[in-house]
Amino acid sequence: MQVVKTIEELRSIVKWWRGEGHSVGLVPTMGYLHEGHKSLIVKAVSENDRVVVSDFVNPTQFGVNEDLSTYPRDIDRDAALCEEAGADVVFHPEPEEMYFPDSCTFVDMDHLTKGLCGKTRPTHFKGVCTVVSKLFNIVTPDRAYFGEKDAQQLAVIRRMVRDMNFNITIAGCPIVREEDGLAMSSRNTYLSPAERKAALILHKSLMLGEEMLQAGERDAGKVKNAIVEHMKTERLARIDYVELVDADSLELVKTITGPILAAVAVYIGKTRLIDNFSFNPGQEKRE
Ligand code: AMP
Repeated sequence: MQVVKTIEELRSIVKWWRGEGHSVGLVPTMGYLHEGHKSLIVKAVSENDRVVVSDFVNPTQFGVNEDLSTYPRDIDRDAALCEEAGADVVFHPEPEEMYFPDSCTFVDMDHLTKGLCGKTRPTHFKGVCTVVSKLFNIVTPDRAYFGEKDAQQLAVIRRMVRDMNFNITIAGCPIVREEDGLAMSSRNTYLSPAERKAALILHKSLMLGEEMLQAGERDAGKVKNAIVEHMKTERLARIDYVELVDADSLELVKTITGPILAAVAVYIGKTRLIDNFSFNPGQEKRE
C-alpha cells in the first residue's frame, strides 16, 4: 500500500489501474481513523478491485470558530489501519495541494444543507460538497463510500451526485458504535472521562425515540419531545438540535408516514457530537 501526497501521482496510478481494467472505490475521510472508517474501507475492498482512502482534514468545511487546528491527526496509524483493511492507496495531500491560493470555485446546495447541522454550521456543506467533488474528479471512482453516522452529509452527497451527473455509485454504510452504544467518532478523543460517560445520552435518548416509533407512535412532535426530555436529564449535555425529518428531502415531518431520519447534535462540554437512526414504518426493524 502506498501513501500518495500529490494529485498528479494519484492520477497516474488510477490511469494505470484503469488500463488493467480494474474498478476503483473511494473512501473519503478526515483521518484519525477508527473502526467506523475501517468498516467503509472493508466494504469498498469487497466491492472494488482497487481502493483509495483519502485522508485530508479539509479546511473549507470548518467554520471560523471550529476545531480545524486541534482536529486529531496521525497519518502513520491511519496508514497501518488502511493497509490492514486492504486499501491500495492512502491519498494524504497538504491543503496547498488541494486548494490554489486564489481558488474561488465552490459546489454549494440549497435546501438540504440549511437545516440540521447546516443551521449551526452554515458553511460546512459547501466545503464538503466542494472537496468531495474535487476528490471525485481526481480519483474518478466507480463507487464512493460514506457513513450513515453523518446522515445529512450522505443525503447531501447523494443529491449532489444526482444533480451534477457524477457517474459514481454512492454506498451508505451503517453506524459503528463502541460497546456501550456511543457512535465512534474522531472527536470522541476530545472527551474527558466524565464527558465520555455523559455522551452515552445521545444513543440512549435516540433509542427511547426509536422504541416509541416501533410501538406505533406516529406523531413526530411527541417522539421529538421524549428525546429532548431524556437528553435534558444529562447535566453535561446541551442540545444543538433534535429533529425528525424526511429521509430524502430532510424536511421536517409532523406525522410519520414514510422513511424518516431522527437526528441529534449535542454539545458535551465543548465537543459537538452527532448521532441518528433511520425509521421506515413499512419495515419496522433496524437494519
Ligand atoms: P470523517 O473522517 O469523520 O469525515 O468520516 C469519514 C467517513 O467515515 C464519513 O463518511 C463518515 O460518515 C464515516 N464514519 C465516521 N464515523 C463513523 C461511524 N462511527 N460509523 C460509520 N461510519 C462512520
